[in-house]
Amino acid sequence: MSPKYIFVTGGVASSLGKGIIAASIGKLLQARGFNITIQKFDPYINIDPGTLNPYEHGECYVTEDGQETDLDLGHYERFTGIRTTAGNNVTTGKIYQSVIDKERRGDYLGKTVQVVPHIVDEIKRRMLLLGKKYHYDFVITEIGGTVGDIESQPFLEAIRQLKWELKGDTICVHLTYVPYLKAAGELKTKPTQHSVKELQSLGIQPDVLVLRAERELGAGLMKKVAGFCNVQPEAVVQSLDMPTIYEVPVRMQEQGLDAIILKQFNLPVGETPGLGPWRSFLDRRDKATETVKIGLVGKYDLQDAYKSILEALSQAGTYNDRRTKVEFINSEKLTENNVAEQLDAMDGIVICPGFGSRGTEGKLIAARYCREHDIPTFGICLGMQMMVIEFARNVLGYTDANSSEMDSKTAHNVIDLMEDQKTVKNMGGTMRLGAYECTLREGSRTAAIYGKSVVSERHRHRYEFNGDYADKYEQAGMHCVGQNPECGLVEIVEIPEKKWYIGTQFHPEYSSTVLHPHPLFLDFVKAAIEAKKH
Ligand code: GLN
Repeated sequence: MSPKYIFVTGGVASSLGKGIIAASIGKLLQARGFNITIQKFDPYINIDPGTLNPYEHGECYVTEDGQETDLDLGHYERFTGIRTTAGNNVTTGKIYQSVIDKERRGDYLGKTVQVVPHIVDEIKRRMLLLGKKYHYDFVITEIGGTVGDIESQPFLEAIRQLKWELKGDTICVHLTYVPYLKAAGELKTKPTQHSVKELQSLGIQPDVLVLRAERELGAGLMKKVAGFCNVQPEAVVQSLDMPTIYEVPVRMQEQGLDAIILKQFNLPVGETPGLGPWRSFLDRRDKATETVKIGLVGKYDLQDAYKSILEALSQAGTYNDRRTKVEFINSEKLTENNVAEQLDAMDGIVICPGFGSRGTEGKLIAARYCREHDIPTFGICLGMQMMVIEFARNVLGYTDANSSEMDSKTAHNVIDLMEDQKTVKNMGGTMRLGAYECTLREGSRTAAIYGKSVVSERHRHRYEFNGDYADKYEQAGMHCVGQNPECGLVEIVEIPEKKWYIGTQFHPEYSSTVLHPHPLFLDFVKAAIEAKKH
């Protein structure tokens, strides 16, 4: 079968959860035995979100092949277990960059280079690339932003042309919002009608409508929307707020979203898959009544900034039959005076990743308090570096110990720039990025948790544990138990005599999925639950 392309667009408002719908469609088609991938096309001009402040765009997600991407790719992986790559996230910046490169090479043979056809052609080429290369049955393409945005237009034009060129091999799923007006006591479909009109005016007729709403829509209303928007009544589904995003695929399946999509492609529908393990996960999540409280020490008190960590903790809670309650602890406000009061209420602490010195003193205070009071603690990337610095200052006695990121002149640079980073000038895409192997020390806590001796984990950082100090740490009780087999860089530290005090230079949260939760998160949450009992 030739690859089928499903485009997911959004209207009325942003943040409706297009990524969750795209991921759910992927999940449901995959459950029917299809080979799928999901990609995100973002209309902004940044080459990738790596240089974006999390306040602007939430977490930056990193693929195994080292691409800094939109956080929706995290949803795609967590829902479907697929591994995305650089090709799964394309921005306007990347499109323009390759068109301009081609122009400079003279590839356009003297032609005037324009948005139509050149930019749109490049968008189309990228939209089809993965499907052609890897022969997927379905390629789901989510378009960032909202229909009507100036910057989305070339992407929508690309969809319009592909719908025409590929005929039966493309459909468009449009996600809109149906607000409830309290004063009128009514759900309003007019914004949806307008947003579909906007799409139609660009030459795209949506084939399926997903209506996001906070209240049940009722068959009458959905029929009305179908009628006004030229969509078959059974091709209109609703997506209500759920206690967890992981319920969305089940709700979509109940309304036959996957069956509708198959019908639109004239493919046989067949039996509805049971989604067994997925449902067991949801059941287990539902049944968990007791909570485990995890404090997230970081500088952003914003959900999306630590998206993958939150999801990994929540998954680990479910597999430990607990509800994970996460509390943000703003590291900029953490002091010697309030640390006890803030951390004592927690069963476990995550010291979060980050860049720059803002909030690092608070992270160091947290690391010390947790180590001295034996609170289960997980340090991730900058969090691990904070554990290392704190240990140097308060155990090894190097009071000026620091990372050269925070203090370039410190005599005790226990965290230092890697050699090959010292000459780098650009900010974007110049870190140690993507998956690298890590060898685990036999007999270590971490090796026992993973149950293997070599693992592969994703990175996103410039600075490293300074190996010159490794012996000092070992002797004083902080062990360097994970190392890169090729260059010997230290990837994991642990204090075995503590209940759970582990720091990883890499980001395990990126690879934790619903059906395959990450062993470190599972064990950390387990340790937090056990610590609670004592
Ligand atoms: N700022 C640190 C570094 O670049 C840590 C990065 C991170 O936490 N992702 O090494």
